[in-house]
Amino acid sequence: MNKAIEFLKTVAIFTSFTEKELNIIYKGLKQTRVKKSRNIFKEGDQGNELFIVQSGIMGCSIQCPDGSQKELATYEPGDFFGEMSIFENAPRSATIYAKDDSILYKYNDKDFFKLLESHPDFAIKIMYKMLKITTQRLRNTSKFLSDMVRWGNDASKRAVTDEMTGVYNRRYLDNALVDIFNRARSENKPLSFIMIDLDYFREINNCYSHKMGDQSILEVVKAFKKHLREQDSMARYGGDEFTVILRDTDSQTAFNLAEKIRKEVTEVDILKNLGGKITTLSLSMGVAAFPEHASTLADLKLKADAALYQAKEQGRNRVIISSDGVSH
Ligand code: GH3
Ligand code: MG
Repeated sequence: MNKAIEFLKTVAIFTSFTEKELNIIYKGLKQTRVKKSRNIFKEGDQGNELFIVQSGIMGCSIQCPDGSQKELATYEPGDFFGEMSIFENAPRSATIYAKDDSILYKYNDKDFFKLLESHPDFAIKIMYKMLKITTQRLRNTSKFLSDMVRWGNDASKRAVTDEMTGVYNRRYLDNALVDIFNRARSENKPLSFIMIDLDYFREINNCYSHKMGDQSILEVVKAFKKHLREQDSMARYGGDEFTVILRDTDSQTAFNLAEKIRKEVTEVDILKNLGGKITTLSLSMGVAAFPEHASTLADLKLKADAALYQAKEQGRNRVIISSDGVSH
């Protein structure tokens, strides 16, 4: 048996062929050599050739959304690739490159289909094997693609949330607030905005530890999450500063909610027995509402900020409703 036929017997799609049959198959094959690192074809290329690895090793990779390449598989002597394009007439779905100096056999689609048409018994045997292998490959690719979709979803979540606390980040809330505010105005519904800042937070960090500071922030977020409704949004504005937006809520209702949370936060006991100066976790908050205190979003934020400033000025650990009326 000549060497080429001996090799073809080891190729998965040809294992059940006789020597005579393999001689017929061999006639349509062309040999090609590729140097290490060269691409055989690239994702997106048009292609009409089926390849079989005779020697060497191939890498199969696809491009990730961030531009990097992810290797999905490797092909070794006896493996085939490129079948999807010749059956589907679709662009190459992956990039194949030589990981070492390699030798390939290739079949172009016309010769391959001619072979299958003139030998229907070959067709059945080849397609049966090929389908099994291709199906497994598609399964692997599909798992990879669903991982990618999840990765993409996580990435978009990361873009809008504060990593440490899981609440929205400032950029997101600033953007979302424009729509939320415009909707409240067009529907003629009230909207409350609360600015929140932890008291003596620098001292908590200095007196205990940064870790205790982080834990305090998480306790505060937990207290808010417990009380906020589906339609309310909380964002970390930076450091120890947060904002909450309450739809369809007037300032008195917002104040009552803020008060309830303020009290609950003072009951959190993580600083109680540490022997430091600050033993109580507390918050100062400023509340302003549309349309009571402001007719524009910018003014609403200013009024809430001024109320927060007053809360700090008056001794902290308190909620203050804006005392200003609408300015025109
Ligand atoms: P006040 O009562 O006036 O608000 O005083 P304060 O000490 O809380 O002052 P301020 O709000 O200005 O302090 C913010 C501090 O928060 C400064 C910074 O070191 C700290 N900080 C900012 N981000 C983080 C964080 O993610 N973790 C921790 N542990 N500390 C942070
Ligand atoms: Mg503070």
